[in-house]
Amino acid sequence: MMSIDNLVTGCGLSGAVIARLLADKGEKVLVIDKKNHIAGNIYDYRDENGIFIHKYGSHIFHTNNEKVWNFLNRFTSFNTYMHKVIAVIDGIETTIPFNINTLYDVFPQTLAKRLEEKLLEKFKYNTKVPILEFQKYNDSDLKFLSDYIYEKVFLQYTAKQWGKNPDEIDSAVTARVPVYISKDDRYFQDKYQGIPLNGYTKMVENILNHPNIEVKLNTDFKTFATANPDFIKKCRIFYTGSIDEYFNYKYGELPYRSVNFKFETYDREFYQSNAVVNYPCNYDFTRIHEYKYYLNDKSDKTVIAKEYSEYFENGKNERYYPIVNEDNKTLYQQYLKDTQQNVYFLGRLGDYKYYDMDKAAERAINLFEEIING
Ligand code: UDP
Repeated sequence: MMSIDNLVTGCGLSGAVIARLLADKGEKVLVIDKKNHIAGNIYDYRDENGIFIHKYGSHIFHTNNEKVWNFLNRFTSFNTYMHKVIAVIDGIETTIPFNINTLYDVFPQTLAKRLEEKLLEKFKYNTKVPILEFQKYNDSDLKFLSDYIYEKVFLQYTAKQWGKNPDEIDSAVTARVPVYISKDDRYFQDKYQGIPLNGYTKMVENILNHPNIEVKLNTDFKTFATANPDFIKKCRIFYTGSIDEYFNYKYGELPYRSVNFKFETYDREFYQSNAVVNYPCNYDFTRIHEYKYYLNDKSDKTVIAKEYSEYFENGKNERYYPIVNEDNKTLYQQYLKDTQQNVYFLGRLGDYKYYDMDKAAERAINLFEEIING
């Protein structure tokens, strides 16, 4: 125990990446996780039907960052999956983000044509316009279109997902799904996109597979720290759990949204036409995931999950999305100021940021480089 230099708490993507970088440098790393499995919220598994299930919701890897891409490709190959999202709007299946093709799906052709011309007049082709920005235009056709998109795509979905109106949440959140002045139906435009060929869990297992790394599951940080007080004082601690939990909630709880997935198995080849179908206007769930699409799994059966958003409650469900706003950022900063010298926070929960997977990996790489380069 005494020879170990680093303790990483949490073996999701952030924890695994920093552990591996330290191990490659010759340092010893102990990784603990309170869960009974590795990979955190990117955990996936092959079920009895041979279908890879993303237990904590669909994860599609996408990045423009060469460093992140090259790093992960040491541990897995990716398929060439490019994600699309279908939304059902007034019973019509169309593409999200709203783009020029969407106009022709949901409106009569003459109206669609007029809107297309207006959009191309006002905006450059292949640009992305956040919905809140789009709302500012005074032209009556554009106003009609922006009201339509706001109401039919964002208003109710955001109410389900966040319990708020789109203008009440951090603008970066809705800007993730802008209006796209393009005919590109993909959800992401990054250079590299794909699903790990043997799943995310296997990718994380490979990242952690190093003689300098030891992994202990079912191990809670507080219990571990109490049992090993000297070790905790001497080693570097990388904490990917929630910062408020680390400090015993002394300034209050940082709020999160959680998600509840209701899994269903069907005795037919496919349930829906796409991996993810959003229901912005209907039902209480936000979207339905159909997992076999990701790795093109062959089965007579299919497994879907209906996604219901809910508040995070300690002990009841898991943390998924930080609720980023000024008050919560201030509370986060208040905790961060109390950080001891040998402790580093990272990951969605440690940084309280809405990271995509590539951004989580990038943050771990940058933190490692900062530490090693002094
Ligand atoms: N959003 C929406 N309608 C949609 C898709 C997204 O209103 O059909 C909004 C919603 O507020 C959501 C945000 O855009 O939380 C970001 O969506 P994204 O698909 O990036 O969420 P994630 O996949 O990370 O849950």
